[in-house]
Amino acid sequence: MTEQNLNPYEIAVQQFDRATAYLPELKAGAKAMLRKPKRELTVNFPVHMDDGSVKIFTGYRVHHSTALGPTKGGIRYHPDVTLDEVRALAMWMTWKCAVAGLPYGGAKGGVVCNPKKMSLGELENLTRRYATEIAILMSPQGDIPAPDVGTNPQTMAWIMDTYSMHRGYSTPAVVTGKPVEIGGSLGRFEATGRGVMFTTRQALRHLDIPIEGATVVVQGYGNVGSVSAYLLQGKGCKVIAVSDSKGGVYNPKGFDARDVLRHKQETGSVVGYPGTDTITNEELLELECDILVPAALEKALTEKNADKVKAKIVAEGANGPTTPQADQIMNDKGIFIVPDILANAGGVTVSYFEWVQGLQQFFWSERDVNVKLRDIMEHSFDNVLATAQEKKVDMRVAAYICAIKRVAEAIMIRGIYP
Ligand code: NAD
Repeated sequence: MTEQNLNPYEIAVQQFDRATAYLPELKAGAKAMLRKPKRELTVNFPVHMDDGSVKIFTGYRVHHSTALGPTKGGIRYHPDVTLDEVRALAMWMTWKCAVAGLPYGGAKGGVVCNPKKMSLGELENLTRRYATEIAILMSPQGDIPAPDVGTNPQTMAWIMDTYSMHRGYSTPAVVTGKPVEIGGSLGRFEATGRGVMFTTRQALRHLDIPIEGATVVVQGYGNVGSVSAYLLQGKGCKVIAVSDSKGGVYNPKGFDARDVLRHKQETGSVVGYPGTDTITNEELLELECDILVPAALEKALTEKNADKVKAKIVAEGANGPTTPQADQIMNDKGIFIVPDILANAGGVTVSYFEWVQGLQQFFWSERDVNVKLRDIMEHSFDNVLATAQEKKVDMRVAAYICAIKRVAEAIMIRGIYP
């Protein structure tokens, strides 16, 4: 199997296998259990389109593990969604929640569709029907979705409303990443990027690189990428290049991360931002910089380009941006990788805060949210770093070791039913 053909699920299993080699105490049964998702649902469902036609869409919801608690994970709307991608993302959610010490198992959902080519009405029809189809798996106690690529707080509002209509009463804790007006948490929108900033700052401290003037390159200027960029800039970093699916912009002297976001919101792309040169996504990944944040989709860094990466730190804002071969190449080059299940755990952490607030109907200030998030991200980073140093492994393997240990312990303590 060549690297190009590797699908995300095979990559996720390879990463798991690599880490379990350092866990001789892990029981064979627990290992076999964790290599596969616990349950998978595929739904094919009709949606009324604006032109009067009815279109059939395919969606998925996968639960990887419920050992530590209810399952948690986003919903992706994208034309390239596959069951294997959803399986991988669900598995990564299990490890991410465990690394951050959250009482959750991992899940993920997805619908094969192109939200950019659908009207708001069509998206609402699709979302309400998909929510109804996966309602047999979804509940505040059982499985709590959140936004991912192609979905947003409005999507979560429709899911929450649909679920609540079926129950006959409002059930805000069934999803997270909702608008604040209906029970969302302050700080949730920026949480993933804020977590990337906190873990990157820990990595800079560890490597003794001053944050002031550290250069930042970001691939993917959506929720995660743009927030990571402007919060790192807020700490003194210099953002020198950013990109989206249409291309990238570069100025070695740096530019304003918030202003380029405004430009993207007004024009639909970062490309054309005044005072910058246009570059391709490939060129962007190979730029000289201190920090590279891949924050688009899977497999941005492969055996083809990993050798050309010149960043000192790669902070994985996206899920699965680095293939196992690229991982090896970059580790050999001495690049410090903050792995996805650690770097982007800020989103699910504040989702957890939102769920707790929703269940208690007691809401926290944004400051409280951000301080608690910082504590969890810094503690998780330090924990993973200590494991990396103790076991003499890279940060990804260390993060997996911490996560797998925690989930396996829960499996052993709970035992096997019946
Ligand atoms: P988003 O849709 O807001 O942004 C994605 C960005 O990537 C867009 O700017 C898009 O133009 C760009 N993009 C897409 N394909 C690209 C390509 N080939 N090259 C360059 N740019 C490209 O999505 P998001 O929520 O920011 O998620 C980005 C990544 O972060 C995904 O891997 C997602 O699973 C992960 N993630 C998101 C969250 C969250 O809370 N939103 C949490 C954890 C992980």
